[in-house]
Amino acid sequence: MLIVQKYGGTSVGNIDRIKNVAGRVVRTVEQGNRVVVVVSAMSGETDKLIGFATQISVAPSEREMDMLLSSGERVTSALTAMAVEALGHKARAFTGRQAGIMTDTVHTKARIEKISGDRIRKALDEGYVVVLAGFQGISESEDVTTLGRGGSDLSAVAVASAIKADLCEIYTDVDGVYTTDPNIVPEARKLEKISYEEMLELASLGAKVLQTRSVEFAMKYRVPVVVRSSFNDNPGTLVVEEDKEMENVVVSGIAYDKNQAKITIVNVPDKPGIAAQLFQAVADANVVVDMIVQNISSDGKFADISFTVPKTDTRRALEVTEKIAKELGAERVDKREDISKISVIGVGMRTHSGVASKMFQTLAANNINIAMISTSEIKVSCVIDLKYTELAVRVLHEAFKLAL
Ligand code: ADP
Ligand code: ASP
Ligand code: MG
Repeated sequence: MLIVQKYGGTSVGNIDRIKNVAGRVVRTVEQGNRVVVVVSAMSGETDKLIGFATQISVAPSEREMDMLLSSGERVTSALTAMAVEALGHKARAFTGRQAGIMTDTVHTKARIEKISGDRIRKALDEGYVVVLAGFQGISESEDVTTLGRGGSDLSAVAVASAIKADLCEIYTDVDGVYTTDPNIVPEARKLEKISYEEMLELASLGAKVLQTRSVEFAMKYRVPVVVRSSFNDNPGTLVVEEDKEMENVVVSGIAYDKNQAKITIVNVPDKPGIAAQLFQAVADANVVVDMIVQNISSDGKFADISFTVPKTDTRRALEVTEKIAKELGAERVDKREDISKISVIGVGMRTHSGVASKMFQTLAANNINIAMISTSEIKVSCVIDLKYTELAVRVLHEAFKLAL
């Protein structure tokens, strides 16, 4: 088989762990497989590098950020290749550029456009274990780009698709995908399998076990993905197409996202086009808006518009909102960063009702106030105070009986 194995930050967090990864890779090769390894930076490394940059500037150039951040993965790729060689197998490390991972030019959250993969294929044909530095690519203008936080998952899935791998294994620090973050709820249950769609919702709603875009990519190109631990041989979770059985499960998971900020434009004179103008400007600033709530004053003359954005984009979103607020004659712009978003997810919601009401009742019974609500076919999300995040996850996990 041709297998892509991605190892996350904790799995390559120190030299012993890199040696452990090399051991697993060699074992897979000795079982008769060809292997492409994709590695993250050592855990904490990317945050450390971001910390250095912010000591220099509040808004460092994004091109230079990518030069900086891509270095973490380069280190682990070379060390992993050396560790495989130390076990007597041939290995070659490649940067994203060397592997032909072509992206657009949106620094710090670039999209993969094309993967040539020639060098990967050639090295595999010559009997090498290929070790690819995750999280990075190269733009048309030959600048190094990175793929957004958690982006090594995307590198792995995209390469698996490009070289038509039989399997893409995502090795991490938990045994698979659980009903919720097992580090918050020890009773959380490991799922044997999960549909691409549910995984996509879980990921986009904050469960960082897989990066959202990697799931999107896997779903689009039907890449077979399994999430497993690099610290044991437990079976893991398969990400697969939805089947009939899954529809019977109303709620399959709870996710939380502490990485959101809420911006409110207060008392804007209500007339057609204000939302269009505001959200066009926010979109032009490359900021993705998640929830939107609009309230109209009782006399119908004014509106408050609240929306959420990723915390990392707060500064940029605020800048454009303040500008638009002036143009529209709004009273002021408020921001809150002490919020989190809690979501209940399940494909069975399409055919079963009552999930939203149960969620609201459970939060109310625990005195947790809801600031915003949004729903889709297969999820309900609420914005709450940041300090109640863990409590909310625990009581909802219990209310929906997910541990059983
Ligand atoms: P890696 O460094 O291997 O990419 P991440 O930290 O990005 O690992 O993702 C793994 C983490 O995701 C786990 O340690 C866990 O805390 C968190 N997580 C959140 N939700 C879930 C979930 N539903 N199932 C499993 N892990 C989850
Ligand atoms: N090192 C990057 C990050 O911390 C990418 C990854 O780990 O997947 O976001
Ligand atoms: Mg990750």
